[in-house]
Amino acid sequence: MSEDAVEFSCPFCKAKFDVPKVYTYATCPYCGTTFRIDNPEAHVEHYIFTASYDKNSVYRLLKEFALMQVGIAEDFESATEFESSYMYLVPLYIYEVNVKAGCRGGKEEAEEGKVEIDVHGGEETAYIVTPAAQGLPMHIPEGYSFPARGRRFFRPAIVGEGVYLQPSLDPEAVFKSVKEPYVSKAVSEAVAACGDNYDLVDNSKYVGVAHYPFWLVRYRYRGRTYTSVVDASDGTVLHLEYPMGVKSRVVGLVGGVAIVLVAAAIGGLITGAALGLPIHGFLGGALSSLSALGVAVGRFIRSKGVYRYRPSEEAVFVPMR
Ligand SMILES: [Zn+2]
Repeated sequence: MSEDAVEFSCPFCKAKFDVPKVYTYATCPYCGTTFRIDNPEAHVEHYIFTASYDKNSVYRLLKEFALMQVGIAEDFESATEFESSYMYLVPLYIYEVNVKAGCRGGKEEAEEGKVEIDVHGGEETAYIVTPAAQGLPMHIPEGYSFPARGRRFFRPAIVGEGVYLQPSLDPEAVFKSVKEPYVSKAVSEAVAACGDNYDLVDNSKYVGVAHYPFWLVRYRYRGRTYTSVVDASDGTVLHLEYPMGVKSRVVGLVGGVAIVLVAAAIGGLITGAALGLPIHGFLGGALSSLSALGVAVGRFIRSKGVYRYRPSEEAVFVPMR
């Protein structure tokens, strides 16, 4: 056993295994029971979202998606070859937020100890699914819409299908921070309606842990590696790097040259006007801009396009490098 791990006994099947100290939860590799390390006897709901895309179908999907992108290399289809793919099972926490800030006054005593609250004020409800670990091998955009449907109870056999990542964030701390905007919205509505004369009722619930499949796919094009990330459950492309074609590079290059020449002309004219020698002034300006032109050319030749998923699902094209 390494220094960074602690030996645990599964609360269900009693099998013994090592758990790294940084984990918040552990999943028994023998029976699949998930438990909190600081409270192994407490019941934890554990779900899995099933992958609908296998290795081959996800690579096919990626290529089709890449071909729809603006400026993709003309020989992309024939010059691209598969390099590697890994399915990661990313840990998530699921919460159901339900907060009411009801104005007092309309309240009635229903039963002893229970108060019926007039929901004149604010009520907020939400279903929240959010990453349960930091430092994931892929970036999952803030507000990424994980489906509410399609989750099943966890089965240990699924672990073998991908790289299984453990939750490491504190679920209570995450709960508090995801709930906060809903609480303040409900409260501010109540304050607008009845000042400080409200009661806050929080029926929010921590549902449990879930694992969600993402593919990390690498392919090669003319000796360079391009990376992409795809939601293995619904096929959403979160990130796609792709080579840009000669035509788009030329457009970029012409743009770069045009900008540099205009700058040179302006620089030359100003210098020339100051010296009373317009022609030499212009040439001097153009020559001094050659190094700038070189930089511009270099930048456009190495163009690579990147597609990034946005929660609004609009296509975002970001040329980089
Ligand atoms: Zn077990």
